[in-house]
This record gives sequence, C-alpha cells and structure tokens, in this order.
Amino acid sequence: MDKHILVTNDDGVLAPGLMALAQEMRKLGKVSILAPDRNWSGGGHVKTLDRALRVKEVQLADGMIAHASDGAPSDCVALAALGYFKEPIDLVVSGINIGANLGHDVTYSGTVTAAMEAVIAGIPGIAVSLEIPEGHTGEIDFDSAARAAEHVVRHAFENGLSQEILLNVNVPFLRDEEIRGFRLTRQGLRVYHSRLDERIDPRGRPYYWIGGDAPTGVAERGTDIGALAEGYVSVTPLHLDLTAYRALSDLNTWPWDENVAIPFFELSVPDIKV
Ligand code: MN
Repeated sequence: MDKHILVTNDDGVLAPGLMALAQEMRKLGKVSILAPDRNWSGGGHVKTLDRALRVKEVQLADGMIAHASDGAPSDCVALAALGYFKEPIDLVVSGINIGANLGHDVTYSGTVTAAMEAVIAGIPGIAVSLEIPEGHTGEIDFDSAARAAEHVVRHAFENGLSQEILLNVNVPFLRDEEIRGFRLTRQGLRVYHSRLDERIDPRGRPYYWIGGDAPTGVAERGTDIGALAEGYVSVTPLHLDLTAYRALSDLNTWPWDENVAIPFFELSVPDIKV
C-alpha cells in the first residue's frame, strides 16, 4: 500500500522549498500538504490552546492542492495526526527550510519542531533544511536538497525509522555533483551573536530588538556543523528525551537532606548506561 506522507514547513505553505519537497515526495507515496499560512521561522515548538484553528485550501504554483492553517508548524502536524485527513499519516516530512538548522537551533526551529510533534503523535518525522550562505540574495535552487530528502526518506521507508526518532537533515549549499555524500552526525555547537538593540519609540518609551550577526558554529568533525563545512549532507537522529544522563550521578552526590525542613525522599538514580 502507498505510504501517506504529510509535508509541512515553517516558511509558510507558499514557500518554494515546500513545493520542491512535495514534488519529490510524490515519487515515494501519497502526499498531503498541511502547512502554516505564514512564516513561522524561529517559532519553536507550539501548541495552540486558546483559540480556534482555521484551515483553508490553497493551490500551489504547480497546481497541487495544499491546506494552510493559521497555526504553527507543530499545530499543523497535530491537526493531521489527529485526523484532519481521513487516512492515517505514515511519515511527516518538514521543509525544505531556507537556512540550516544546526546544534541548538533545533529548539527554535519550526521546521524541526514539526518533526518533534510527529514523534509525539507516534509518527516518525524528518526535517530538511538547506544551508544558505551568509549574504546570499539570489534565487535558491532546492533541487539537490529535494533529492537528498528523497534519498533519506526512501531509506527510512525501506529500513524502518523508529517512531520515537526524528531525523534532522541539513543539506550544504552545493550542486548535486559537488555534494560529497551523507554523514550521520551528532548535534554540534552553534555560536550565537545576538545583541540587544535598545531604541526609543515616538512616545518616549524604550523598546528592544534582539539583533546581531547570524549564528556561526564550531565545525567539529562528527557534528552536523562539521559535515556541512566539509560538503556532506548531515543526518542527525534526535529524540525528545532531553535528560542529561551524565548529570544524574553527579546530582546524586549532593547532600540533598542537609538542613531541610521538609524531608527529602531519597533520590533514586535510574539504571543508565552512558
Ligand atoms: Mn524557516
């Protein structure tokens, strides 16, 4: 039976990266598109609880019918997982994002958090982002990123991707023949250069803008940042268990029960292998 693939993104339903991804995914199964009606880049993992969500049909530039919601990317995934489409979803693919999502970016990224929402719904998720060089202003060619996504998704279908895992795929800004291959990686260290800009509004009150230069990163081998720097597509498996396992035994040596009015229950360190 055909796989049912949900395609979403965080740049908005009309973004060219989504259409390129959807076209490539149609080679692998039945594609449904449900994506935000506006740009949610940097919007993080969202669950809209205090208002209704609206969905409307839109037509993409190639004639494909898509569904656009006024919620966040993760809301779009929740809508689909909870039955907006009548047929169950086998895989959520999010992207192709304009700009890489590396290291700590994953918690800010609407592209990646859409795939996180899939995992919460018990569906494997794959996020795909294309690195854009600093200062690039011209057209963006999504072809090699779309083909990289097809390669990863096909392997996920053939080999089975656990529903607890999402894959964070980042593609270097290179032509097909310049890409050196695929690397399995871990999250690298992103370096942010945020700067607070304080200004005064026309009524004399201060307002703030979090600005500064674009983030850079430490191009260490074995990491997502390192792979892109060397011209490889980076594939990082992620899960939502953020427990710092190595900190558990450290914390357990703290004298938790000294000088406390309320007695502490004994802390138990779970059985872990690090
Ligand atoms: Mn984006």
